[in-house]
Amino acid sequence: MKLDNYDIEIIVQGYPGKSVCHGGLGWSSVVLLRGEGRTALIDTGSIGMRKLIRERLAGHGVAPADVTDVIMTHSHHDHSINFTMFPNARLVIGADELRWASELPWGEPSVPELYVRELGRSPMLQTAADGDTVFPGMTAHLAPGHTPGCLVYVLHGGERDLVFTGDAAKNRAELLSRGTDMTCDAKQSAATIEMIWRHWQARPGNVLIPGHDLPMIQRDGATEYLGTRNAAIQGWFDDGLETTTLFRLHA
Ligand SMILES: [Zn+2]
Repeated sequence: MKLDNYDIEIIVQGYPGKSVCHGGLGWSSVVLLRGEGRTALIDTGSIGMRKLIRERLAGHGVAPADVTDVIMTHSHHDHSINFTMFPNARLVIGADELRWASELPWGEPSVPELYVRELGRSPMLQTAADGDTVFPGMTAHLAPGHTPGCLVYVLHGGERDLVFTGDAAKNRAELLSRGTDMTCDAKQSAATIEMIWRHWQARPGNVLIPGHDLPMIQRDGATEYLGTRNAAIQGWFDDGLETTTLFRLHA
């Protein structure tokens, strides 16, 4: 995907689902954004993605040390935990989000407390507030609900914008139903989803990239996905390693 001088690649595609018997799934999107002399990531995926992220970045000729900016939508582990992979990156997260996550007692769901503590101490940290420009052409918008300090980022192009929603709107179902699952505050989430729609509909062709789904556009009043879904797991149910059963996890 191109936006003016930027190249945008979804290096890990988020998945709109949750596990039935094993708690949080955490298959979130990781987006590579290059241009203006910078190499940025929007969110960093979950810890199980580290090898994959390295491979996918290498496929674009990027080493972890080349990443100049890690821009996080919120503190949940599947979006924030891999900031430690990028030693030279400026680390951006919402000021309200970091404060909230830092003050939680240890052991709360989804927040990696020790990573949050290290993030708060990092000399590379730059906290952001509502309306801040966090990157050339990109503004932060406070989007509470899923967590109290989520940020939505809007990258402004000449003809259209990209709207990175993180988990403030995790997937198509939340956007179109205007309801939310897994939120700290459903009422705040509802107001945040209206705010996201305003940014999405501000100009024709605006692309929305959610935290756990394919990118989407609005065309003639309908929502269209960009790209295709790909998700599967392999199980060992035999006595040896040779035989596996493949489960495709998409329609
Ligand atoms: Zn989240």
